[in-house]
Amino acid sequence: MAGRRDRMDTERDRGGQPPAIELRAVARSYGRGATAVQALRGVDLALARGSFTAVMGPSGSGKSTFLQCAAGLDRPSSGQVLLGGEEITRFSEDRLTKLRRARIGFVFQSFNLLPSLTVLQNVLLPQRLAGERQDVRRARQLLAEVGLPEHASRRPGQLSGGQQQRVAIARALITGPEVVFADEPTGALDTRSAQEVLGLLRRAVDTMGATVVMVTHDPVAASHADHVLFLADGALAGSLWRPDPRSVAERMAALTTAAAGFAGAAA
Ligand code: ADP
Repeated sequence: MAGRRDRMDTERDRGGQPPAIELRAVARSYGRGATAVQALRGVDLALARGSFTAVMGPSGSGKSTFLQCAAGLDRPSSGQVLLGGEEITRFSEDRLTKLRRARIGFVFQSFNLLPSLTVLQNVLLPQRLAGERQDVRRARQLLAEVGLPEHASRRPGQLSGGQQQRVAIARALITGPEVVFADEPTGALDTRSAQEVLGLLRRAVDTMGATVVMVTHDPVAASHADHVLFLADGALAGSLWRPDPRSVAERMAALTTAAAGFAGAAA
């Protein structure tokens, strides 16, 4: 159906399962009146379970706002966000906090591990915060899967940046979240560590059935995804399946030139 394709769905027939995450006409503006900024202007999309999506766009195109709205960290001004088919847009703050802890995983550019906790305690933290049983066996298994089986009792400060991000991935996966949101996860890493981290996210999708949504400005990072969504000026501006670094870079160059032209015309 043309209508569904226009929404840039990654949803295929998966036995009637709802998408992992769905946005319906999501708009977000900041401020009011003449100075209002339209950060998102009606975004429609559905991302299938077990998919790996990269989100790209020029600076100011709305990537952070998209991530925050999709992950229940911010509320759209209008439109709906559905997680596993359940509309979360009208959840209370309290309910959203619980939902984020139990059903969503986060990976940040700056790792955000707690320095006073051991690696194992950091991995278990989401379960602790969600009031769930802390599954030490599972945490150790995840640490082994990210290549750090011997590091459980170390502190984050004793690890390299790449190792800290691998711990953060184990932490993001501990609750078996419906979606993992990664915000520039390789932005602070050297090339080799970045490759390892991207390989782990890829593996989480391929072998653990995780769903990953990753904001990045790096075409090489984006090429690890199944699918790249491009944002420009708060709206979806295209997508690319089975991306390779060169075609992603070309699309980004075109969008950045267009955005610069737009800003120049507005000035
Ligand atoms: P990106 O992550 O692609 O750089 P953002 O989502 O951060 O884009 O921003 C999109 C637009 O919304 C930009 O014009 C930005 O200046 C504006 N914006 C973002 N956050 C705020 C805020 N808290 N208050 C006002 N404007 C904001």
